Amino acid sequence: MKRRFFKLLSLALSVLMLSSCAVFDTRSETDKVVDDIKTLGESPDDNYRTWYEVFVYSYCDSDGDGIGDINGLVSKLDYLDALGITGIWLMPVHPSTTYHKYNVTDYYEIDSAYGTLEDFDKLISECHNRGIKLIMDLVINHSGSEHKWFKEATDYLRALEEGAEPSEADCKYVGYYNFKKGAAASGFSQVNGTDYVYESRFSYDMPDLNLSNENVRAEIEDVVKFWLDKGVDGFRLDAAKEFFYGSIDKNVEVLSWVQKTVTDINKDAYLVAEVWDSFGTVRDYYESGITSIFNYPFGDSSGKIISVLRGAGQPLAVKTYAEALVKADKAYRENNPDYIDAPFLSNHDVGRIASFVGSNEEKMKLAGAMNLFMSGSAFVYYGEEIGMTGAGNDPSKRAPMYWNAERDGGTTNLPPECSLPDEYVCGSLEEQIDNHNSVYSYYRQAIAIRNALPVISHGIPSVETALNKECISAHRKTWDEEECIIIYNINGEAAEVDLSDYADWSLAASLSANGEGIALEGEMLKLSAFGAAVLVPTKD
Ligand code: CA
Repeated sequence: MKRRFFKLLSLALSVLMLSSCAVFDTRSETDKVVDDIKTLGESPDDNYRTWYEVFVYSYCDSDGDGIGDINGLVSKLDYLDALGITGIWLMPVHPSTTYHKYNVTDYYEIDSAYGTLEDFDKLISECHNRGIKLIMDLVINHSGSEHKWFKEATDYLRALEEGAEPSEADCKYVGYYNFKKGAAASGFSQVNGTDYVYESRFSYDMPDLNLSNENVRAEIEDVVKFWLDKGVDGFRLDAAKEFFYGSIDKNVEVLSWVQKTVTDINKDAYLVAEVWDSFGTVRDYYESGITSIFNYPFGDSSGKIISVLRGAGQPLAVKTYAEALVKADKAYRENNPDYIDAPFLSNHDVGRIASFVGSNEEKMKLAGAMNLFMSGSAFVYYGEEIGMTGAGNDPSKRAPMYWNAERDGGTTNLPPECSLPDEYVCGSLEEQIDNHNSVYSYYRQAIAIRNALPVISHGIPSVETALNKECISAHRKTWDEEECIIIYNINGEAAEVDLSDYADWSLAASLSANGEGIALEGEMLKLSAFGAAVLVPTKD
């Protein structure tokens, strides 16, 4: 009798457990919101993507030596996929004499600390399996001083007989760099044991390549072909402003040449150049026809997004944001009608967004949305999505991804001379992942909105004058037949936006920075402090 009772009980429990799977939704609140957002639509498979910059060294260590590696990154692709990332920019992965690897000593290999070419092949295919594109840093302004080209050139110069002139016929590599006789002035370094100097704008161990030399160009062509043939989807061009020191015209010519060289091999390849300069200069470089240039005038601590957030609560400061978006788009588009903007907030050189806004979580979140809701290819710097801080020397801007508070499970060692903040105010990924109000969950939603409404990334902006007032920043985007209106409350207090003239529009998505609701109540849009909303035309 007793036995039968327990049998029945266990049967009843099994039924209950089975049915509970069907009845109870096990998704987190953020999962549900993101799934709802995804029903709005999806982005085409083009180069207007949501990119993520990875410093492999500090991302994820797969083999316990404390240095991040390619296989570690592969193990995090599901994480990035869930975050909504559709493209990865890898900082240099080639053999190098420095931890950051911008001194390349072999353009055809993977640094052994990071892995092997086979690991890299696997990374490409695992990215592509998930619809994620992969671009690599292409460092052509300079090689490493330990590159065989430079070593052979300097060995040759040292062996020259007194009074003899160097000849490319004897050693072609002397033409690869900018050698000259004389004292080492600023931007030049001495070839030890000779009276020659060489151009080295960044550092003695980064000799500038002579990009007017045909052999150098042939080498670069071989390099890009090698990686494109492997399946890499494009390149980030390091230090484009320094190709020819002080000459925009010559640099524009190099960029045009790279663009043509790369797209002749793969017409869909994506190129984004680093021109770390003001609005007018970025605009001038678009004459090269290069697809994308990082939008420094909007990113970094001095860029438009952060400066507007610093002026939060001041109507005049807020008013300029939508106007600046329109002005930049017009100017860039005029110089290259096919340009794709490349907004970012932070990268490995400029420090982390959380440090720019005094670790104010609400501002950090809205800054993230303002970046992700810009047109073009938006870039997120690893760790930005969990509000990591990082400022000071370069290694401190490149700290280990903060996976969990125990700093285990793939967490890397610190790069040399990196100092960590006393605490990360937003916590580790593990502490944020199930919290609907975390920076991480906010980024997931913001990226989902960007990916689901391609008019956000593809649209041409215009100021929505009727709504762009007080501390409300509003702009419209238009792409083919599609439109949206993006509204930010750039203020620490809740606001109401009168939408009585927008009866044909609906609230498609919103982002709350403080957990308080955002809703369209009748004709009034209620926007919480630092809230963001996206309106779309109501479908019949
Ligand atoms: Ca490792």
